[in-house]
Formats: sequence, structure tokens, C-alpha cells
Amino acid sequence: MYLKTNALVLREVAYQDADKLLTLLTQDYGCLTARARGVRSRSSRLKSACQLLSYGEFTLLERGNFITVTEAELLESFQGLRTDLDKLSLGSYLAQLGESLTRADANDPSLLRLLLLALDALSRLDRPQTLVKAAAELRLLCMAGYAPALEGCAVCGAEYPDRFHVSQGVLHCAGCKPHLDPGLSMPLTPGALDAMRFICSAPLERLFRFELPADSAECLAAAVETFLLTQLERGFSALDFYKSLRLTPMG
Ligand SMILES: [Zn+2]
Repeated sequence: MYLKTNALVLREVAYQDADKLLTLLTQDYGCLTARARGVRSRSSRLKSACQLLSYGEFTLLERGNFITVTEAELLESFQGLRTDLDKLSLGSYLAQLGESLTRADANDPSLLRLLLLALDALSRLDRPQTLVKAAAELRLLCMAGYAPALEGCAVCGAEYPDRFHVSQGVLHCAGCKPHLDPGLSMPLTPGALDAMRFICSAPLERLFRFELPADSAECLAAAVETFLLTQLERGFSALDFYKSLRLTPMG
């Protein structure tokens, strides 16, 4: 059976002589693994659509448990990512995160849309990477069922508490902490809290268009990343690589 669908390449693995195994997040069929024959040879016409973080229109042939790419037309290559190692590694991390949050039995086109918007923001707009990363991480978590409770302090109800409890996903004031489970809390400025509330509720097309002063941006980034790693209870090799780049002064 032939399947025709738009898809983003979340992962690529070299396979046999000149093939690749691609993890595709599709518009219509959720996440699929497909074999792309001969795409590592220089002359392959499928080459550009079958690289990591390319978005294209794919024709797939499904035979039993095996899926093969028969046609692939590039729709968007996010060129701005490919000339900047920081951005490319951050994009790879978001793809890895997206893959980890897809469920094999579910097709959620909004996940694909979020990743495309995030890659677009990274590659084309002059958006701070810190904000794109935090917005993508937190909204992906919301989509996957890990939305934090951000209405106010979980104990007294205060509207702008200055702590975020990362294992419980709730806000609290410093003085209210003894009423919650022990565990790590991250500091939150009012600006960072407003940003978290915005990220959880904004229409997707506006998600990457907010501004934040540097101190609040750092606070947001630290709280969201720690929340994510705590909730998912795993690490991401692409995140480690991205952070190693940011720590090493280049040149
Ligand atoms: Zn309180």
C-alpha cells in the first residue's frame, strides 16, 4: 500500500551501503520508521528531503512491517539551522524530544506543527535560542500531558509566588514550601512566570514571538529544562551536546 504524507525527519541512521533508516514524524500516520534506499549516494534525487530536520512530501510503500521511501520532495530545509552548529544541535535535541513524546498508537498533528514552528523560529527569525528552547520544551510537555499548574501558589493561592516545584509541577511561595513534598524548587521571577503561563496557553503561531529580559529568560530556561528532565526521568544526548557547545568558547 502506498501512503502519501508530509513529514519531518526526526532521526537518520546510516544503513547498509548507501541507505538510511529515517524516523519520520508524519502529518497523517504518527511516527514511522522508513528505509530510504541509496540516499547517501551523491546522485540520489531523494537526498535533500531525506536528511535530518528536513520537511517534505513523502510517498511511502508499506509492505508488511517494512516501509520504504519511494518519493520525497523537499518542502523546507530550514537552511538557517544548517550553517550554525548551535542551532543545528538545538534543533536535533528538539527532534529527539519530540520523538520521545510521540506515542506509537497516536497521531497528533499539533506536535508536528509545533516542531516545524520551533525549527522555523530557530532558522529564520532572529529569536534568542534560550526562549525558543524553553517555549518548545514547555509546550511539548503540555501536549504530552505534563502541563504544570500555574494559577497561583499551590498552598495559599498567591498569584505570583516565586518558586516552581519541579517534581510536582506547581508554584509556591518560599514560606509555603513545608506544606509540599520535599524536592527541588527553582526560583521564578514574575516575568518568567508570565512567560510560562503564555507558553502553556498561547496559540501555536504566536508561541515563539514573546520578549523577555535576560535575567527572566535565564530563569525561565533553567526552570523549564529542570522541570522537563525531572518529569521525563531521562537525559538527551543531543541536549548534552548542545550544552557542551555553549560552555566551550569557540575560536
Ligand atoms: Zn503560598
